[in-house]
Amino acid sequence: MEDCLFCKIAAGEIPSKKLYEDEQVVAFYDIAPQAKVHFLVIPKKHIPSAAALTEADGALLGHVFAVIAKLAKEQGLDNGYRVISNVGEDAGQTVKHLHFHVLGGEKLPV
Ligand code: ADP
Repeated sequence: MEDCLFCKIAAGEIPSKKLYEDEQVVAFYDIAPQAKVHFLVIPKKHIPSAAALTEADGALLGHVFAVIAKLAKEQGLDNGYRVISNVGEDAGQTVKHLHFHVLGGEKLPV
């Protein structure tokens, strides 16, 4: 999608610090980390937010969470981590491309 920051990152048109990439998803470090470890996992396909997901995205979502689990293990987040997806204005979603924040590496505020 034109003018979508995360579509451009997924396409490699805007640089990012990538941890992982396959045909369906990309994972990269957040530019403004909110924890010792903070990366984002996004589908390459443009989906505006979790509010736009349908049953047809089930396999993609399963894959996203399998990738999150694998990367969290690789990053040494054995003591736990948080997965967040902000939806819409009230939640503070600034980038309108579905993304999952993965935060950890320290005790997170409750
Ligand atoms: P918020 O900005 O309130 O966290 P989102 O949930 O939409 O809202 O998250 C967007 C995230 O994308 C932010 O954590 C932000 O730091 C990150 N971000 C923005 N631009 C880039 C970029 N070029 N590379 C990596 N992360 C980015």
